[in-house]
Amino acid sequence: MLVLKFGGTSIGAPERMKRVADLVVTAKGRKIIVLSALSGTTNALVEISNALKGSNSDHAIDLINSLEGFYNEFSKKLFKTTTYHSLGEEIISRHFGLIRLLAAGKFDDRTGRELLAQGELISTEFFHALLNERAVESRMLPALHFMSIDENHEPELDKITERLLLLTKSLERHEILITQGYICRNHINEIDNLKRGGSDYTASLIGAAVKADEIQIWTDIDGMHNNDPRIVENTFPIAALTFDEASELAYFGAKILHPSTIVPAQKFSIPVRLKNTMDENAPGTIISDSSEPGKIKAIAAKDEIIAIKIKSSRMLLAYGFLRKVFEVFEKYHTSIDMISTSEVAVSITIDDDHAINEINEELMKFGTIEVDYNQTIICIAGNRIAEKDGVLKLIFNSLGTIPIRMVSVGGSRNNISLLIETIHKKKALNLLNEGLFEANVKLVAH
Ligand code: ADP
Ligand code: ASP
Ligand code: MG
Repeated sequence: MLVLKFGGTSIGAPERMKRVADLVVTAKGRKIIVLSALSGTTNALVEISNALKGSNSDHAIDLINSLEGFYNEFSKKLFKTTTYHSLGEEIISRHFGLIRLLAAGKFDDRTGRELLAQGELISTEFFHALLNERAVESRMLPALHFMSIDENHEPELDKITERLLLLTKSLERHEILITQGYICRNHINEIDNLKRGGSDYTASLIGAAVKADEIQIWTDIDGMHNNDPRIVENTFPIAALTFDEASELAYFGAKILHPSTIVPAQKFSIPVRLKNTMDENAPGTIISDSSEPGKIKAIAAKDEIIAIKIKSSRMLLAYGFLRKVFEVFEKYHTSIDMISTSEVAVSITIDDDHAINEINEELMKFGTIEVDYNQTIICIAGNRIAEKDGVLKLIFNSLGTIPIRMVSVGGSRNNISLLIETIHKKKALNLLNEGLFEANVKLVAH
């Protein structure tokens, strides 16, 4: 069994969705197709939701009308026959009827999440209808029937597996199964989601549940690049990454993958292949167990980081101090990304500010606190790079005079992380690209 996930841009225009249908039909064997919403839709739904939360219902209605107009145009170009044009209209009016109903009632978080789910629900219905129009047999596998998260928002892989195995067994005769990325049910059975970009995570969870031969993430670029192609010049695709390397890069900001994507696939050693819908012959990136030690593979950056420094003379020679500090973060369900300690101070970074005031108040009991906002973590990943001679020197030489707030080496053998101010990010990533990747060729050659 294969799992093939297509992102928003891959299906965001009628011609592209048709191209995806061709790809799905030519791919051999049984497969589960995971689709995102058409590109721009989830952003539009978020905007509608914000307008409703702000009680700006006139603006929300304008946005809903214009989104519906986009779908009507899309449907006209997607389907060939009048029967399917009517089916397209029926799908649109059903979902937009619901969207208007949600917008007219009391608007809360639950309604907001139901609104956000409409993007994936519409795209999969369109795709299913498109295959039907071409007389290609396929079946829907509704994500809301099997994908679930617990009270901590963690996917329930065991339950997902159990439900999915029953469902796929009942559809045994069918080669193409279509499901929605991103959406799920929560512990009180409400409609929920796996956070923005979550369709990649859906694909990996399904791959792990059905023990797929491979999980393929089809997007608009030819694989994981060595650096963020949106802000760095001369980036290039990486042919192969280990699960650990890919995991670090996704967690530390490589937008091509949702941060948790690799976890379920790695658990069962299921290879993840990143492919380009716009250029299907490009080799893409394969993520698996095999490795190429000592090579710097890629750089990623994660923004909106907050650094907290706790300075206390009580820390000097005291045991138990760090435990007390960590307990504060645990109490407020805030995870820590980087840590750096000296004899009298500890610096910590977090990316979740929901309880920052409460955390700071409690930390003040231990000493003086300094908080810096607008920080960026830069992650340099490669299998065992932390053990490679000369890597740190290369990194620091490349960065020149850019001020570095924190450094983390040795936490993992596959990652070196730096904390800088976000204003220096673009320059830092470009300098590292020049310095590390030219030099990397030399490092590898010797
Ligand atoms: P999809 O809609 O298919 O999920 P995304 O927009 O979420 O696609 O992810 C693909 C985009 O990720 C690319 O177009 C690229 O701009 C961006 N990106 C950021 N960092 C990287 C990287 N290291 N390698 C490849 N793409 C990256
Ligand atoms: N449609 C969702 C989003 O835009 C999920 C995804 O695309 O992966 O975030
Ligand atoms: Mg994405």
